[in-house]
Amino acid sequence: MVNAEIGVIGGSGLYSFLEDVTEVRVETPYGEPSDSVFMGEIGGRRVAFLPRHGRGHHVPPHRINYRANLWALRSVGVRQVLGPCAVGGLRPEYGPGTLLVPDQLVDRTKARTQTFYDGETRADGVVPNVAHLSFADPYCPKGRKAALAAARGRDWEPVDGGTLVVIEGPRFSTRAESRWHAAMGWSVVGMTGHPEAVLARELGLCYSTMTLVTDLDAGAETGQGVSHGEVLEVFAANVDRLRSVLFDVVAALPAEADRDCPCAHALDGIDTGIELP
Ligand SMILES: [Zn+2]
Repeated sequence: MVNAEIGVIGGSGLYSFLEDVTEVRVETPYGEPSDSVFMGEIGGRRVAFLPRHGRGHHVPPHRINYRANLWALRSVGVRQVLGPCAVGGLRPEYGPGTLLVPDQLVDRTKARTQTFYDGETRADGVVPNVAHLSFADPYCPKGRKAALAAARGRDWEPVDGGTLVVIEGPRFSTRAESRWHAAMGWSVVGMTGHPEAVLARELGLCYSTMTLVTDLDAGAETGQGVSHGEVLEVFAANVDRLRSVLFDVVAALPAEADRDCPCAHALDGIDTGIELP
């Protein structure tokens, strides 16, 4: 059985050059994940990579099967997940190339399934219970700490904390929306960080993210607003160091036996009606 302990949800640029990568197709009761899971090894740790948008980037943020993705990772043994993503900066000081490790999120998505525990009969006939989990602190404290230390170790001073607001997309924000997000004191804006985070929590997985600012969001600048080309350009310019930091985080995450953070106990005392893989 091929398995992994750490999962990374992110683009193929993060794993494509790894040697001895094994591609595994995983079926889930929630349908198809974005792609196969690609298993490899980094610093002695077994890692499962899942391209969030699929190979060739054909799945837009609002159509990602987030439940299938998280379920697939847990199915191959993953208990800690890193979900790096590209974001827009909501403050002038968070320009392109900024690495921000958020400690909060605001959900502004509109049409995404946010829970495994909705009482709806699954395709396999299993009926989950309705459950309400604590989500006051959406990110794993151990994962955040490892991310901050890894970035500093690579001389990339990260912003420690801040709020990621997740919008439905696929369009970028209007200037008014962007000004509103900034006025609320939120830090960065993206399209994929949710419901990824809450679904990980619902499966008892650790989840943390590192956000790479690829543009100043519409309200934070006086130019033409965000373009997709600009986002891709900045991402490409930073993907090598993002990968280096990510690999250092993987190596620094606690072993499963030492995973004593609140995420690991998120389901304690809750009868979900579902057997987790
Ligand atoms: Zn945790």
